[in-house]
Amino acid sequence: MKGIFHVHTKHSYDGVMNVSEIVQTFPEMDFIIITEHSETLNSNKYDILVKECKKENKKIIPGIEFNTDEGYHISGIFIKNYFKQTSAEQTIKKIKEQGGISILAHPAKYKEINFEKIKEVDFVEIWNRVYDGKYVLNPKNIELMKKLNAKPIVAIDFHKKNHKIDLYILTEKNIKKSLKTGKYQLFKGNKKINNELNLFLKLKRLSYEITKKKLLKFTKKI
Ligand SMILES: [Zn+2]
Ligand SMILES: [Zn+2]
Repeated sequence: MKGIFHVHTKHSYDGVMNVSEIVQTFPEMDFIIITEHSETLNSNKYDILVKECKKENKKIIPGIEFNTDEGYHISGIFIKNYFKQTSAEQTIKKIKEQGGISILAHPAKYKEINFEKIKEVDFVEIWNRVYDGKYVLNPKNIELMKKLNAKPIVAIDFHKKNHKIDLYILTEKNIKKSLKTGKYQLFKGNKKINNELNLFLKLKRLSYEITKKKLLKFTKKI
């Protein structure tokens, strides 16, 4: 199943399209995961969104991007009921209680990260189109993901048509299970990001070794 993550509809204050328009914008996708801003959401609006998602022929998964007390955006997907945002810790807990999946959105937005508050988060956006750009993923996000022992996900952070970017997820038939068990692949165009991720970690180690050797040589000369 080919799909995208982090999409805003009109239910978000900065979204301009409804669910059907979004579905029409991505005919190549088998699933779309929506994460609406919590600020402009309430129980009633969320129920409407859930209904709108069910109406489509494709798998449209509703979710919420919670703006938590600490300012971290924590998204909850596969959640049945709306709840008011609280602290990051509580938000993650409540998402999990509903059998949902929690995701730390765009880590590049935050000046400081209090690991204690978000240590239970399931996923980290290793590449967010808005905060990390269209071309490469942000290595800092990978380091953070490793520290948190979380899984990687890519986010198109879509609000309107010109936000379309070829950043997607390939899962098995059961999307939720696939994500929970780590049996999925991340892609940019036809390039597998998971491979790049491993390469990045190897290169980082390598460049460290090279720098160390160069420094040693240099210090011996003087
Ligand atoms: Zn956000
Ligand atoms: Zn967002």
